[in-house]
Order: sequence, then C-alpha cells, then structure tokens
Amino acid sequence: MTAPLPNIASGPSQRRRSVGVDVGGVLVGGPAPVVVQSMTNTDTADIEATVAQVAALARAGSEIVRITVDRDEAAAAVPHIRDRLLLKNVTVPLVGDFHYIGHKLLADHPACAEALAKYRINPGNVGFKAKRDTQFGAIIETAMRYDKPVRIGVNWGSLDQELLTHLMDENAASDAPVSAQAITREAMIRSALLSAERAEELGLGRDRILLSAKVSDVQELIAVYRDLARRCDYALHLGLTEAGMGSKGIVASSAALGILLQEGIGDTIRISLTPEPNGDRTQEVKVAQELLQTMGFRQFVPVVAACPGCGRTTSTVFQELAKEIQDHLSTSMPVWKERYPGVEALQVAVMGCIVNGPGESKHADIGISLPGTGETPAAPVFVDGKKVVTLRGPKIADEFKQMVADYIERRFGHEAATDAAE
Ligand code: SF4
Repeated sequence: MTAPLPNIASGPSQRRRSVGVDVGGVLVGGPAPVVVQSMTNTDTADIEATVAQVAALARAGSEIVRITVDRDEAAAAVPHIRDRLLLKNVTVPLVGDFHYIGHKLLADHPACAEALAKYRINPGNVGFKAKRDTQFGAIIETAMRYDKPVRIGVNWGSLDQELLTHLMDENAASDAPVSAQAITREAMIRSALLSAERAEELGLGRDRILLSAKVSDVQELIAVYRDLARRCDYALHLGLTEAGMGSKGIVASSAALGILLQEGIGDTIRISLTPEPNGDRTQEVKVAQELLQTMGFRQFVPVVAACPGCGRTTSTVFQELAKEIQDHLSTSMPVWKERYPGVEALQVAVMGCIVNGPGESKHADIGISLPGTGETPAAPVFVDGKKVVTLRGPKIADEFKQMVADYIERRFGHEAATDAAE
C-alpha cells in the first residue's frame, strides 16, 4: 500500500490586519502591499546632495524616503528639497526624522512641517522628565494641524530609560522574575504602545500612526515584532537596525524580516545597510525589493534564474550572459515599466549545461541552456516551455538578448495590449 501524497501548501501565513496609513499618497498597511522605503545619508542642509540622493533612491524603487531633520538649517532646506524634486518629476513622499528638538524645528519651520509627508519620532529622546509630555504633545498637535501621519519609532539604543528602570524594578520585586532581555523587549513594546495611546488621546487618528521597534539582533527583533503585532493593529514598519555592511547586513536583515513577513507581520520595510565608503546608497532599496520579490510578495524587476556553475562549466560565458541579462533588465526597467506594463513578472533562465539547463529553461518564460564542458557547442532556447531554436557560434549572447527583447515586445508591448483588448 502506498502512503497518500502529502498535501502541504506553500506560502506565507495570512497577513496581519493593520489600519492603513496614507503617507503622502502611498498607503502603508491595510490592504496595501508591503512598501519599500529607504533613508538618505546626506546632510539635509545640503540641498543639492540630498535632492540627488532622494531622486536616486526613488528611481531605484524606494516608495518613501526618510531624511534627517536635525537642526534649523536642515529644517529650512526641506521645502526646497521637496520643490526641487518636484521639478525633476520625483514625487516620492519625504519623511522627516526628528530627535530631541523635533517639536521646536516643526514649530519654527512651518514650511518644513507642511512639505514632509510623515514625521518620525522616537519616544526615547523626544524629551525628558516633565518636558517629554509637552514636547511629544507639540509634535502630535503639529501632525494634526498639517494632517500628517507619525511613526513612533522605538529603538533599543535610545530606549525610554525611565520606563526601562521602572520595569526592571518591578521585575526584581516579582516572585517570578523574567530575563533582562524580556524586560527590554517589554519596555520597547510598551514605549511604542503607550506613546501611540497618548497620541490618540491627543486626537491623532489611528490611521495616522505607524509603529516600529528596532533592535540589531535578529532573534530579538523577531520576538519584539511578534509580540507587538499581537498587541495592536497599528501599521508596522520593519527594520533591523544597524544591520551592518555587505553580506552581513543583507543576510541579517533578510533573515529577520523574511521570517516576520512570512508570518504575515509588517507593512513597510527598510533595510538598514551600512554602505561601503562612497558606496551606492540605493543598494538598500534593491535588497528590500529582492527580499519581497524572492518571497513572492511583490514583483519589481524580471527575475533571472541562473545556475551557480560547477565543474561542468569551464568557461565564464554563462556567468557573463546571466549578468548581462540581469543588468540589461534592471537598467531598462524605468522605461519598460511605462512601455511594457506587467514586464516585471518576466522570468528568464540562463543555465550552464545540459544537466538542469533544459528543465529550468522550460520553467521560465524564456531560457537558454548553454553548453557545458564536452557538450556540443550549441545552446537551445526555450520560449514558454518549448524549444524554439538552437543558437551556435560566437554571437550566442547577442542573439539571446535580442530574443529576450523581442519576447518582451511581443508579450508586453502595445500590440499585445491591443490584441488583448480586441
Ligand atoms: S546546470 Fe550544469 S553547470 Fe549549472 S550548476 Fe547544474 S550541473 Fe553545473
């Protein structure tokens, strides 16, 4: 007797229901897909540099961009940055990141308060002791006056020390004390929730509040957000703070955020990568997009499936072709998005030999299986699962690129849309 085939579904858990927040025309939470956001590292007072970086981040696909507003010069620059971006046709919503003196900067620079699409404040450093409530209240009142949402962003590096001490004391006196880690998590969550409650008491709508609670440890981040998600329905901004450089930052962020997203938690993400000196700030946007796309939540750019290569491939032809195709698709996307609606769903395969090449190529919309060592120097091309041609000779790469371009035109171009409408 054969055992019944297992019927295991793949896919994420049902998305947590959150209250949607309109951030300058971009819906975060509610029914909206998970939104990609990023942050500049320019001095906001340097209008030219900040405009250039915001534009680059937006063109890379960032749907919201945060800028630091740390002093009068930065606050004064914000409306000019917004206007210069509009002249460049960049309409991405700008978020102001405020610490310590946000209440004063917003009061002294009404044009800044107006130009920003959202204010981010950290309850751990909005003010101390008696001043904290009045300063927090002043920011919330400004948000209500200008009809802006607010992200209450708790960070374990700047946690509300009074609250933490209070919880530590309570824990020490308890019959069943919990770990210091658990107390820190609880302090973060309570800080966010109490601040959100206070903002609502002051009159800010629930649909104007987002929360975040960032730490730099993967397991702690997952634990904090699981608990936070369970205890409220505010829209949640996910991010592993100080994720680090290069592969370390990418892996740590993807591991933490991937697990939470799989559990249905998270409405917007930012990947906090430390760029290499003079590195490309837009990398954090690419990683966020790739994370969402690779997990099947959203589609941003056509996917190129390429095999890793092995001892069966002695040449680098397939690696070069895979890279050429991926670069070509990525750089063409800003134009293609307009010209070929739906092109981001395209799947291309570039494979190194006959072992998995034909099979993988058949699964893609268009794929090529290059010859491995000792194989006949021929490269079959598969379109929509069927072999259509075998390429030979030194121009295989160029011919395949042209076939990809023709396929895109045929499937996503104007004529395809016209045919579909008829
Ligand atoms: S498809 Fe061929 S070349 Fe690529 S990894 Fe597999 S065996 Fe190696």
